[in-house]
Amino acid sequence: MLKQISQQEALKKAISVYNVAREKSEFYKDKYQNLADINNTDDWQQIPIFTKDELFNNSYPKSERLLTLELPLTNAIITSTGGSTGLARYTMLTYNEWNEFLERQADALRLIGISETDVVANLFVAGSLWPSFVALHDNIRLIGAVHLPISANIDFDKMLQYIMEFKPTVLLSLPTVFVILADKILQKKLKVDFVKVIGYAGEHMSSMIRNHIRKAFGEEVSIKSLAYTSADCGLIGYQCDHCAPNEYHLPTDFQYVEIFDFEKNKICGPGEKGEVLITNLERTSEPIIRYRIGDVATWTGKSCSCGDKNPLFVIEGRAGDDFKIGGAYIEMDVIEDSFSNYVSSHGISANYQFELEDSSEGVLNLKLNIESSDINDSQQLIEQIKTNIQDRVHDIKEGIAMKLVNLDVAFVDLGILPRSPITGKVKRLNDKRVKEEK
Ligand SMILES: [Zn+2]
Repeated sequence: MLKQISQQEALKKAISVYNVAREKSEFYKDKYQNLADINNTDDWQQIPIFTKDELFNNSYPKSERLLTLELPLTNAIITSTGGSTGLARYTMLTYNEWNEFLERQADALRLIGISETDVVANLFVAGSLWPSFVALHDNIRLIGAVHLPISANIDFDKMLQYIMEFKPTVLLSLPTVFVILADKILQKKLKVDFVKVIGYAGEHMSSMIRNHIRKAFGEEVSIKSLAYTSADCGLIGYQCDHCAPNEYHLPTDFQYVEIFDFEKNKICGPGEKGEVLITNLERTSEPIIRYRIGDVATWTGKSCSCGDKNPLFVIEGRAGDDFKIGGAYIEMDVIEDSFSNYVSSHGISANYQFELEDSSEGVLNLKLNIESSDINDSQQLIEQIKTNIQDRVHDIKEGIAMKLVNLDVAFVDLGILPRSPITGKVKRLNDKRVKEEK
């Protein structure tokens, strides 16, 4: 169980972070110049919101304005939030802060069932300043388990070879990687019954992907989210055995979290949906205060049957997994639903990409690319999948009838879909159209 402190104690810690920030960082000195001392919740709510742009533009090494430390830097690590170069945010943490981040994360890993008797395969992409691989190295060491630093930088056959050789009880990676492993295991008809926990992070795991993984690793395997974290803030939410897929406990001694309704300009109570604002209680080298991280959440207001008093919240989903056709928002789930029944059969994988592109003739080209270990066998389902998409999305059906939309479904070899070189994620929605205003 992670440490629990009262709202009052957490506020006190948050105020001390605020005081350091206002005194020592050029950025916060300017931002807070009209603010008086903060003593209670009402004062706290006068503190202006900290935006992603502000964080991006003022973080070290791009700028020194957020820093509260003297340069030159010592005892620190710099990581990146990923994203394409130029847009990536860098996060500098002192080793003391890094340790605080890791201890919380290790506690969260213990809660999903990882212990010192486990053999843990670390299958995240290493390099490019991406923190997951190195952070897990330290997490696994803190737990005392055996670490297999395999990474996702090697080819998948080699990865699978190590897995069959060392028989890890825990695999940690992105959903995309687990899909490919499942494809390979099913294709080679391997028996993999030694994996107890599959822990994922970095992407949403749909029920289609979950089912596909179970087909390869067995029905008993426990599939768990490695917690709700960000490179800037560390662990924001962790799961116990009683948590629903999007439900998390707040580590109260580590983050001061508010859920804020920007339309009504007020703090949300239980059951009210709003945006997550984070104040990290340990990071003072570059303080994060009332940071608008971009996630929507709701406090459940319920106590958890696991006995942990840390409050529960539910993440309501992230932006970017829907698209617009003819004025209607269409969820990617609907596209997934058009072929999810065929996944794990006929060689069909759960890794796919849906492309939208305007042609020069004014036709909207839609293309669903799905990976497959047996393209010939998969192809017999193309017409059925096209029909399924049209049955589910009226605007696509109508567009095709009016010759304004062209729909294509294709199967491609395993591992072919473009992946981010930094994180290894497959972009499931690739909207190449000129951006409309949202
Ligand atoms: Zn619980």
